[in-house]
Amino acid sequence: MSSELQLIQSEILECTKCELHKSRTNAVPGEGPYDARIMFVGEGPGQNEDEQGRPFVGAAGKFLTELLESIGLNRSNVFITNIVKCRPPNNRAPRKPEIEACNPYLQSQIKLINPRIVCALGTPAITTLIGDEYSASRFHGKPLTKGRVTLLPMYHPAAALYDASLKETLFHDFQILKKLLEKEETIHPDAPKSVESSEKKQTLEKWV
Ligand code: URA
Ligand code: SF4
Repeated sequence: MSSELQLIQSEILECTKCELHKSRTNAVPGEGPYDARIMFVGEGPGQNEDEQGRPFVGAAGKFLTELLESIGLNRSNVFITNIVKCRPPNNRAPRKPEIEACNPYLQSQIKLINPRIVCALGTPAITTLIGDEYSASRFHGKPLTKGRVTLLPMYHPAAALYDASLKETLFHDFQILKKLLEKEETIHPDAPKSVESSEKKQTLEKWV
């Protein structure tokens, strides 16, 4: 399992499947335990991430760390990645062909890590994982569950950096995440993980 994830990681580091490879310094595959129960999926690397090859290491990452700590978790407990693994120039939004080219990596990561909860940070991650009709403003904090996987849409931490009320909303939605984790613990104390068969699945639409 972990060797498959390592293989995906090395493919990402050398990937040229979309335009974004031309301007990147480093691709950012994501990081965290290969058996993480929680995954966070952001939009794409920014400047700091591009320079360091690691996800969420700038200001938004600092806030994400704070949010995790507010529910007793730290970064090393969770797997963190993005819908595109290379930085869009000048931090523009990733474009549809780029998201589509990169999506198989994300889907493979989800399949192999097989987390209990996937938090989609911001509307681009939410639409990629759940469907175009979803958005952070309408669906944040509303978990969608299918089988043993729960998808939790949230605002992007970067959107909240200069907006106190969005910050509050994110802290509140992390409390929802905490409750979901507690529920998961009581229902499935040590149940083995089941692996979704998702060879054909390009989005999580069918999970919800
Ligand atoms: N914003 C994102 O969406 N992802 C990162 O990795 C950093 C900032
Ligand atoms: Fe490949 Fe994804 Fe980077 Fe595009 S963004 S070059 S698909 S790794």
